[in-house]
Amino acid sequence: MSHKEEVVIIGAGPVGLTLAYLLAQRGVSIKIFEKNTQLQKDYRASTFHAGTLDLLADSGITKGLIERGIVCPDFQYRGWKEGRIAQFDHALISAYTSHPFRLQCEQFKLSDFLYHELMHMPHVHIFMDHGLTDLQNHSDEVELEFIHSGVKKIVKAPWVVGTDGGKSTTRKSLGLEFSGFTYEEKILVLGTPFDMRNSFEDLSFVNYFSDPVNYAHMLKIPDLWRMSLPLPNDLEDKVALSNAYIDSRLASLIPNLSSSQIEVKGVYHVHQRVVDRYRVGRVFLAGDAAHLNNPKGGMGLNGGLHDAVSLSHIFQDYFFADREHFDDYEKQRRYEAINAIHHQTQNNYNALKESDDQARETLFNRWRALEANEKESIDFLLNTSMINSLWRCGLLEKPAKAL
Ligand SMILES: Cc1cc2nc3c(=O)[nH]c(=O)nc-3n(C[C@H](O)[C@H](O)[C@H](O)COP(=O)(O)OP(=O)(O)OC[C@H]3O[C@@H](n4cnc5c(N)ncnc54)[C@H](O)[C@@H]3O)c2cc1C
Repeated sequence: MSHKEEVVIIGAGPVGLTLAYLLAQRGVSIKIFEKNTQLQKDYRASTFHAGTLDLLADSGITKGLIERGIVCPDFQYRGWKEGRIAQFDHALISAYTSHPFRLQCEQFKLSDFLYHELMHMPHVHIFMDHGLTDLQNHSDEVELEFIHSGVKKIVKAPWVVGTDGGKSTTRKSLGLEFSGFTYEEKILVLGTPFDMRNSFEDLSFVNYFSDPVNYAHMLKIPDLWRMSLPLPNDLEDKVALSNAYIDSRLASLIPNLSSSQIEVKGVYHVHQRVVDRYRVGRVFLAGDAAHLNNPKGGMGLNGGLHDAVSLSHIFQDYFFADREHFDDYEKQRRYEAINAIHHQTQNNYNALKESDDQARETLFNRWRALEANEKESIDFLLNTSMINSLWRCGLLEKPAKAL
């Protein structure tokens, strides 16, 4: 294997590990540098969409996810008082996908699965406790500076992909703008073994609650139920995470659930941002390093996994078919980050927090009408499952019957 067929990946999150796995399967030599000594075990992404599952099926990643996750055929829009407003069943799009469902699986289970697979693959080296601190992007190579056990280390690389998350050092070292905004409110994420179906009739495993104050999502993941609630930005995290505060928020929404039953809790800032350039010379960006979005719709990691598949094709063509189309990556993926992911997640967010009574009633009627109309439901599901996005950018082939 020549040095040319090597890719260095910064960050062993789910996007970096997926890209590493896809490239290693094709015989590319991989070095992954991760700043922490262990993989992150955080409760962020849990939804994997039908389009993503189709896209990753050939690699075996989908099988690994399904073995670890829960198949959720439908999702609901609800009100805390109104109950179920509308439900959308992925069976309607089974002509367009081999996976007509959402899969709920914690993102750290995907990372853990890929990490253990990668450890046994030839030409893969994973360097933990290596935090990137700077890079020099030369015309013939990239010079990377890491801190390892407190000591500076220089590594040279032919190609680099920064998958080092929202605060990406790779992106900052390239001097790129991360255009967009941060929402005024933060979100509180709670996880509990308490079965939410004891409190809500006819609850799906994936639910979006519309409410001017307590707009929320409530999801089943393999071990827990998870929900999110908005938080005022000026509320200190330690107050938001206190039992007293959590009990005060739960009392009016789920009276038979209390802080003593909460096993996982976290506060997150939420952003809609996209980097101005996805590639500068020999350095590419993917996943949260390139785009951030609010989690209403569960699309951030899915979009990052689509980036990883796109890059794996581009590197494969370059290394093994002598075709160089590096510029296509940004064209293919940046448009989708803005027009699929940001568009969809912002629409969800606006709808869920609608505060005008008349507008809420109109919105509920629109959801009910959508559920009742099969053709419109199919179009809607093709967007929410990200299949339309993958057809549009060419990562999945659009079947003739869908033309
Ligand atoms: C509450 C919440 C819920 C969410 N739910 C969903 C969902 O259901 N579906 C969905 O698709 N998305 C969801 N997301 C988004 C999803 O969590 C992210 O998109 C995903 O984690 C991005 O993966 P990544 O690998 O790009 O980055 P990360 O997961 O952030 O991983 C980056 C890695 O890089 C490492 N790193 C950082 N800096 C350096 C450095 N200098 N040197 C070396 N290594 C470094 C980090 O330690 C980390 O291991 C959610 C987000 C939140 C906050």
